[in-house]
Amino acid sequence: MNPLKGPSGRDDTRFVATIKAECQSCGAVRLRVSDLTVRVCVDDERGAYRFRCPHCASAVVHDATAAICALLVSVGVEEEVWSLPAEFHEEHTGPALTPDDLLDFHLFLERDDWVSHPALVAESTS
Ligand SMILES: [Zn+2]
Repeated sequence: MNPLKGPSGRDDTRFVATIKAECQSCGAVRLRVSDLTVRVCVDDERGAYRFRCPHCASAVVHDATAAICALLVSVGVEEEVWSLPAEFHEEHTGPALTPDDLLDFHLFLERDDWVSHPALVAESTS
């Protein structure tokens, strides 16, 4: 569905695009170009647009095809280009973290001496 809607049935040369989008709480809302931001990831070319709902103030994000992103940018929506964090490209070895590991780590951080703990220092310097 094309989210762009012009003024219906009017011959108005001062066309101002309004964009119809969906808020998960309020349903369909109409937005100005300046209310939206298009986000495109340079690494995998995924696109999305985001806005703050004018009724409930919720932050809303929707995935969008490259065509929709290009259309939104063509009418003046600000484009934000971002990259995946470098950690995303790291190769990880070893077993996956389990809920027990996370609980152990939480308990470890409750200790007063966790900063100077030999095991932590040894792992962080290896
Ligand atoms: Zn809303």
